[in-house]
Amino acid sequence: MNREDFAILKEQVHGRNLVYLDNAATSQKPKQVLDAIMEAYTSWNSNIHRGVHHLSQVATMKHEEARQKVAEFIGAQSSDEIIFTKGTTDSINALAFSFGEMLLKEGDEIIVSGLEHHSNIVPWQMLCERKKAVLRHIPLREDLSLDLEAFKGMLNEKTRLVSIAHVSNVLGTIQPVEQIIRMAHEKGIPVCIDGAQSVPHMKIDVQAMDCDFMAFSGHKMYGPTGIGVLYGKREWLEKLPPHEGGGEMINHVRWNGTTFNELPYKFEAGTPNFIGSWALKAAIDYMQSIGLEAIEKHEQELTEYCEKQLKGLADEGMSGLVDIHIYAEGQTKEGVISFNVYNGKQLIHPFDIGTLLDQQGVAVRTGHHCAEPLIDEMKVPGTVRVSFGLYNDKSDVDAFIAALKKALSILI
Ligand code: PLP
Repeated sequence: MNREDFAILKEQVHGRNLVYLDNAATSQKPKQVLDAIMEAYTSWNSNIHRGVHHLSQVATMKHEEARQKVAEFIGAQSSDEIIFTKGTTDSINALAFSFGEMLLKEGDEIIVSGLEHHSNIVPWQMLCERKKAVLRHIPLREDLSLDLEAFKGMLNEKTRLVSIAHVSNVLGTIQPVEQIIRMAHEKGIPVCIDGAQSVPHMKIDVQAMDCDFMAFSGHKMYGPTGIGVLYGKREWLEKLPPHEGGGEMINHVRWNGTTFNELPYKFEAGTPNFIGSWALKAAIDYMQSIGLEAIEKHEQELTEYCEKQLKGLADEGMSGLVDIHIYAEGQTKEGVISFNVYNGKQLIHPFDIGTLLDQQGVAVRTGHHCAEPLIDEMKVPGTVRVSFGLYNDKSDVDAFIAALKKALSILI
């Protein structure tokens, strides 16, 4: 699927053709996105919002056009509900600070889940420490799915917010966010969705989902680093205070106090990443030119194919010695597979496998994937994670399986 647009895929690594399977960490960028960055810097680069001159007005228009594009892409009611940030981590920190400063008091509770990325744990943990509030997490069942019965019992009059990953960056599994949102809303509790691993892979409609907030990163969806989004329902964003002070976010500044700008500028202090927003728009245009349904179908098929090949390798058994454990095996996944290999009962360290794959040009991620509480619960030091983007195909899976076979023949 459109591999030609991604020049980097023609690179050689250690003298071998690059097989890039680390898309959950960051995706590669198509020519169209790189062209958008080049165009911005060569044709209209100028600081936005403050200038009367032509270039400033063009830059302002482009930034707002990008905001409108993001709003339409995720089905927001209005572009005022789109705040540009540096990425998912920045979005969640912004929300934790703003929401927390305004609404959290001693003894209140925030709920996350047992499979969150650190960026959907630590900002809440820091907030709870500041406010003497309590961070709770939804436990996992044996199959690493969320225990919604337990969640039901956790919701109470002290719960102020629920924040949940839509798709696990370790397992690739899709969480029942609609159900979680319904359950929380029945008690009047708002929900934030960490969309870092869902927005790049599936059609999102924040209004249909009815989440109150959503965070995601541009660099995981074929856009550049340094740009991300915090979506918030207007009624929430209007209520919440700014999380940072500076230029752009003000209405008037006097020695006796400052009044704040309207949405969304209230939450965008300083010069925003207007080149990044324009390139993010190009990335969205690119994804839409392929179609989100087509991307999701392609990546799910590839994931299923890869799981099958991995199982085949285990069945081959390398003389009956090797067992490959795929986590959340058989569950629908959004382009991510985590696994470990056992030699008898002995775990082969994921780092060793990752290193030997790298020597053959295959890029995968190994370790805890910034989700230590989940990895602890899985009782392993880490996993090997393969993650797909729209440009991957079966030849990448075949190359990965061949490289894994070779790696295991060295390790066993
Ligand atoms: N949340 C999830 C589920 C992720 O997978 C990641 C990154 O891998 C993040 C949050 C953090 O994203 P970023 O580093 O772009 O802020």
